[in-house]
Amino acid sequence: MAQIAAQSAVRTSDHTAAVTRAVPAAASRRPDSATKRLRPSQVPLYNRLTEAGQSTLDGGLPPGGAPGPVPGPAQSPAAPAPAAPAAPVGGVPGEMRRVNVQPVLFKDSPADPAPTGVSWAQRFLATQDTWSKLGVFFQAAGAVQIVDASLKAAGGTRDERDKVRASWNGTGVGIFMVDNDVADAGGGGTVGGGTANAKIALSDRGASDTLMAHEMGHVLGLGHPPGGADPDTIMEPSGTNNDPNPTRNTIGNYHRITWPAPTGSTIIYPDP
Ligand SMILES: [Zn+2]
Repeated sequence: MAQIAAQSAVRTSDHTAAVTRAVPAAASRRPDSATKRLRPSQVPLYNRLTEAGQSTLDGGLPPGGAPGPVPGPAQSPAAPAPAAPAAPVGGVPGEMRRVNVQPVLFKDSPADPAPTGVSWAQRFLATQDTWSKLGVFFQAAGAVQIVDASLKAAGGTRDERDKVRASWNGTGVGIFMVDNDVADAGGGGTVGGGTANAKIALSDRGASDTLMAHEMGHVLGLGHPPGGADPDTIMEPSGTNNDPNPTRNTIGNYHRITWPAPTGSTIIYPDP
């Protein structure tokens, strides 16, 4: 628990640093469609920091930073604020959704020096970046740690994954990280997709940063292409916990989200 909390703290400051660096570049890059691919991974970052963040998103200004146009002489202090600028290039109005997730990690003994969860930070970050394009924002609770050597190594069969996913029940989408390749399910298996009872059994191994983001698409109610999602998007299976899925996420995928219900409006940034 303490270790996870410490990791979270580090991660938070990493984000802050990254955002501080990224925002001016993002602002200047915005009109340039040639470099647009870089923007989605950055815009959602400060969108997260500002929650709804409409003004930051719409204005494209560094948070609290760049001075706006100098008010003209006709603008008195009582004048209404300038109208909100149009949505930035690539952004369109959309609905916002919030998903609470619960990391569930495993130890083989109370003193286990290597609990699962080593891939959590990078995979959760990719989940946030991939789905914030479509207005979905995630809040992770503090990790639950379960001491059970058998469950820690489990996940190679559907039966094992069911046992893993049964080891915790509570509020939020359980993401159970096991020290197993979960090979027969391509690295992860989700049940209850499209409902508040969704649970993900996820390999904590392998080099794919997009594994969790893909499974989260199932949680949101999407399937695989061609019928359940757009092709060449995050929902394209990679087949293993080692090979990344495409990070593309489209308006077609947005319209396939069935859960949770929207909680407000935001600007979304679907990929072409
Ligand atoms: Zn899948």
